Amino acid sequence: MTEPDLTQQEPKERMAHPIRSLRELVDFVAGKSLPPLTPEEGRITEVLPFPYLAIVGQHEMKLALLLGLINPNIGGILLIGPRGTAKTTAVRSLLDLLPQVDRSTCPYGCLPEDIETGGIDAVCPDCAKKYGEGQPLTSPDKVRLIELPLNARIDDVVGGIDERAAVHERMRVRRGILAQADRNLLYIDEINLLGDDIIDSILDASAQGSYTVRRGPIVATYRSRFVLIGSMNPEEGRLRPQILDRFGLRVLVRGLEDASERLEAYRRVQSYLANPRQMIGQFSAEMEVAASEIISARERVNKVDIPDKVANPAIKLVQRMGIDSLRAEITWFESARAYAAADGRDEVIMDDLKAVAPMALRLRRSQFMNEYFKGQLGEEKELTLLLGGFGKNSASKKRAKQTSKKK
Ligand SMILES: [Zn+2]
Repeated sequence: MTEPDLTQQEPKERMAHPIRSLRELVDFVAGKSLPPLTPEEGRITEVLPFPYLAIVGQHEMKLALLLGLINPNIGGILLIGPRGTAKTTAVRSLLDLLPQVDRSTCPYGCLPEDIETGGIDAVCPDCAKKYGEGQPLTSPDKVRLIELPLNARIDDVVGGIDERAAVHERMRVRRGILAQADRNLLYIDEINLLGDDIIDSILDASAQGSYTVRRGPIVATYRSRFVLIGSMNPEEGRLRPQILDRFGLRVLVRGLEDASERLEAYRRVQSYLANPRQMIGQFSAEMEVAASEIISARERVNKVDIPDKVANPAIKLVQRMGIDSLRAEITWFESARAYAAADGRDEVIMDDLKAVAPMALRLRRSQFMNEYFKGQLGEEKELTLLLGGFGKNSASKKRAKQTSKKK
């Protein structure tokens, strides 16, 4: 083995120059040029994710996915673009950057929060005993990437009767993909091709953070708090407007326009295929820094504040754009808070809002609703006129009656 051992050096020392923030890191690594690699021979191919920061260009996509890791309140990310633009690669490459969360160690998913809100009976007897003894009900675990296959059936998604268990013992509901996705990332490629019943159950679970399955006499409720990542190729079918609205950030992913960027992208893919370990090693220092930046940004984000002087002009802009959905500013502000946290600040400034505005606001305006409201104007005017005179006499009579009663 002639590979240099990169792990013995401190990550920050190995980098060409100091990086101040996650944003700078993303920009810096995108422009890094690599020495040629020696091909690796005779090794069994392992599934090693392509280094996230090694993806050339696609700044907005890379940023959106990182913001989703920092602040799950952003409400999901939709990647829209043709095939071969590294959408799936980018999502799978997040694997080495995923932070840790506290996860229930119990098969029923009991959490200390359950006891705080619902008392000791809100958890199973085992967990109640543990809690009484002062033992933890959760342990830290890495966030996982759960992929929903396109051929998934509704029973796979929400869970169904466990047929094998049903034969031997009493009937049990099998945990579905949505329950497995709790506190994880849920990735759906070609989301526009998924059946309506499946999409609806995913969006409901994502909005409520939990869902209930009823199968005959059995009722089971599962936690399902996940960051939804969807990708779609608009050539292959459109997404219903109500689904589009449920996604926080919408990223348009185009092919690389710059010829030198395309060449660099090719070189990196080629190095990765030739010798994945060595290629990953060339980016491991930056990946380690990025992973620790994400952890500190996640800790900071809840403290980040948006002052009124920044929020008010933003809301006016949303209104000027003719966007009705409140999700526009929720996503916009939540992603700006994540952006400020990634930059190590506790307060959102205008530049943060500007940086994330296109992702949060595009594809929100509804041509249909604008025309619908315009067409409705005549009737609204008529209603206002009619209502102007409506009930005036009866209301004054009623008032007169009440005052006479008091006397
Ligand atoms: Zn339990």
